[in-house]
Amino acid sequence: MPFTPFHFGPGFLVKGCAPRQFWLTSFVLANVLIDLEVLYYMHRGEPPLHRYLHTYVGGVAMSVVAALVMFLVARFVLARLPDDSTWLRGLRATPARRMWTQSLVAGLLGGVSHILLDSCMHYDMHPFWPFASGNALAGIVSVGALHVALAITGFFGIIIWLLFPEG
Ligand SMILES: [Zn+2]
Repeated sequence: MPFTPFHFGPGFLVKGCAPRQFWLTSFVLANVLIDLEVLYYMHRGEPPLHRYLHTYVGGVAMSVVAALVMFLVARFVLARLPDDSTWLRGLRATPARRMWTQSLVAGLLGGVSHILLDSCMHYDMHPFWPFASGNALAGIVSVGALHVALAITGFFGIIIWLLFPEG
């Protein structure tokens, strides 16, 4: 849905609790990639707005893409840092394999939580495509209540993150 930033709330909370290990960038990118679908069909004026990327299959695929992009960006940046740089010191000490796992876990959390949260709001979604059609969760909570809950999650996540930046 176009209010993508609301999806970042749970990401901020996980980031607040595990700042070193959690790749908020991969989490955010997965959410943005999935909602590009809504922007595209909105721009063209062609409902339904929630199609293939707003399914668990599509969401997981976008999660892997987001995880890969952020992993490659991190590797690229780290390879170009001068040896005496203290920036990203913790990340530089992390083996590549673990970096990939961290990016993938964060991307999957972003993508899967996106589909789950959007399922509660959008009647035009078929989250279990191509295995099943329909969306049993639609309307289970009001859109207003869901947004308030996500905003609160993000607010406390940022507070915890600011208070305990190193975990
Ligand atoms: Zn969405």
